Amino acid sequence: MTNTPPMTRKQALDAFFDLRDAYLRLLSYEQYQQQTDTLTRTRDALDVFTRLVYGPHDPGRQYSVLCERCRRRYAERIVQEKDKSTLIMCCTPCITALQRDHQLVEEDA
Ligand SMILES: [Zn+2]
Repeated sequence: MTNTPPMTRKQALDAFFDLRDAYLRLLSYEQYQQQTDTLTRTRDALDVFTRLVYGPHDPGRQYSVLCERCRRRYAERIVQEKDKSTLIMCCTPCITALQRDHQLVEEDA
């Protein structure tokens, strides 16, 4: 018997996202191309569980996917972190933290 506290639903969902991310990193481009149906079904399944855990997103101001930094809220904007080439989908608290730490490439308004 261990005294590990029971996993929360959010932690359980995190574990599945982590597993998917780790799997994607292992795939070559050719393997990725051969498995698009499975990967699409997996993404759809994660969307279903995301809805169950976090409830519906607000289509007026949120994307239907979780923030790629914290995975604790739905993403609200697509931003670019300094010194990184890829864009990420981010929630407002994470954007605020990135701005505060000057880690965000701000688009010119
Ligand atoms: Zn976030």
